[in-house]
Amino acid sequence: MLDAFQRPIHDLRISVTDRCNFRCVYCMPKHVFGPNYPFLKRSQLLTYEEIEQVARVFVRLGVRKLRLTGGEPLVRNDIESLIEKLASIDGVQDVSLTTNGSLLTRKKAEKLYSAGLRRITVSLDSIDGETFQSMNGVDFAPEPVLEAIDTAADVGLTPLKINMVVKRGVNDNAVLSAARRFRGTGHILRFIEYMDVGNSNAWRENEVISAAEIRDIIGREFPIEPVTPDYHGEVAQRWRYTDGEGELGIIASVSQPFCGSCTRARLSADGSLYTCLFATKGHDLRSLLREGISEEGLFERVKSIWSARSDRYSELRATQVVEIPKIEMSYIGG
Ligand code: SAM
Ligand code: SF4
Ligand code: SF4
Repeated sequence: MLDAFQRPIHDLRISVTDRCNFRCVYCMPKHVFGPNYPFLKRSQLLTYEEIEQVARVFVRLGVRKLRLTGGEPLVRNDIESLIEKLASIDGVQDVSLTTNGSLLTRKKAEKLYSAGLRRITVSLDSIDGETFQSMNGVDFAPEPVLEAIDTAADVGLTPLKINMVVKRGVNDNAVLSAARRFRGTGHILRFIEYMDVGNSNAWRENEVISAAEIRDIIGREFPIEPVTPDYHGEVAQRWRYTDGEGELGIIASVSQPFCGSCTRARLSADGSLYTCLFATKGHDLRSLLREGISEEGLFERVKSIWSARSDRYSELRATQVVEIPKIEMSYIGG
């Protein structure tokens, strides 16, 4: 099944909650996501059974990879039971999860692994306490996250990826220390260009540290060379240290958009389907589910949505000013 630009559908990112225990400045700044913020109510969230129903349909349409995200997926109760359901769907090759790591104890990591999770991405914007604490907005220290990374790798969630969003003047001075910390560990550190998602982060283009700048910063201390991508549609540019100490990734969504090979759909926590991170409108699947739509009916609905897909926001943004009302990343799923 192809969209209007001949792109297949391969990945589904599932946001299981719009809530989070962090208030990262680039995602859920605390002056916007304060105590009175209207988060979704429990009854508005898809149940795990509903998520499974939707996932089955996507797998029939070609999806092979499922990723749980949010918000913070580990704040939702018993997430391992959802992982178990998803991992047992015929045709699913990979179930993974993106987390801030703050709730990833050894017990939790073991439960996730037993449920069928095999890969995990932990976000960590600096190993320096002061920088990290000011970026996550809740004064959370990096040490427990570093510990969670070791624990996750220890229980078998490898190769483990670490996401670091780089914002000029905020944590660009933490790029090298992170590279030093993670090279040679087998974990893949991925630098992400700061994106203009949502309406809350007051994004300005000059705050983006581009992929080229990141390569320069790393190159000052460690020679690196490009690695051929594993598959078409891989979002991270892969690099390796020439001394054999491992790989790193750079996600250049702003400076080198990759809409042409974007094979991702997103399911929001309340069951709307978004065909782009920057889509202004979702397609409400929850109402269809709660009205009792058949699997075949849902299959046809999703197929027609994907076939009509013509999103390529990041490519347009690279050449023109695009003014659209956007959806928050914590809601749509990062
Ligand atoms: N709470 C989990 C976490 O932080 O890993 C999962 C959800 S979070 C929205 C998913 C990823 O999106 C994180 O790695 C986060 O750093 C990234 N992200 C959030 N806002 C971003 C932005 N404005 N630009 C680039 N990446 C962003
Ligand atoms: Fe929470 Fe993740 Fe957003 Fe940070 S990036 S506020 S941890 S959802
Ligand atoms: Fe995909 Fe939309 Fe991002 Fe382009 S802007 S890569 S279409 S999610």
